[in-house]
Amino acid sequence: MCIFCQIVNQEIPANRVYEDTDTLAFLDIKPINAGHILVVPKKHYQNFEDVPEEELKKVIVTVKKMGALLKDKLGVVGYNVVENNDPVSGQIIAHLHFHVIPRHQVDGNAFWDQRDYQPGEAEEVMKKLIN
Ligand code: AMP
Ligand code: ZN
Repeated sequence: MCIFCQIVNQEIPANRVYEDTDTLAFLDIKPINAGHILVVPKKHYQNFEDVPEEELKKVIVTVKKMGALLKDKLGVVGYNVVENNDPVSGQIIAHLHFHVIPRHQVDGNAFWDQRDYQPGEAEEVMKKLIN
């Protein structure tokens, strides 16, 4: 059984922040900033393609609640919602989870380096995406 299923089943401890019938939110053990929360469906799915839409909706509603909770109770001024799909993206735990990451005015956390498209590159991608 995966580590997040074990947390759901209370077989290993976690700082449980919120739970309802289908979802659980708990503190990430290695936070980017204090209050970093993970939100999971209680059932095991690896990623976006696997989770049924009805369950995904419930998970995202809990994500929304956790964002509001961070602002309300921790006074954070903003937060990132991040979800990694498959190892190449940085997914380490193969149980769908959303990171809800508190952000502060100057916290030094830059997530991605962006770049410009090369000439013609965006058009090539668009051809593949919409044809
Ligand atoms: P990801 O890279 O998206 O799969 O993120 C997995 C996250 O799970 C990491 O941020 C870890 O710090 C976190 N994590 C791993 N084990 C535990 C645990 N036992 N309790 C809470 N968070 C955990
Ligand atoms: Zn699992």
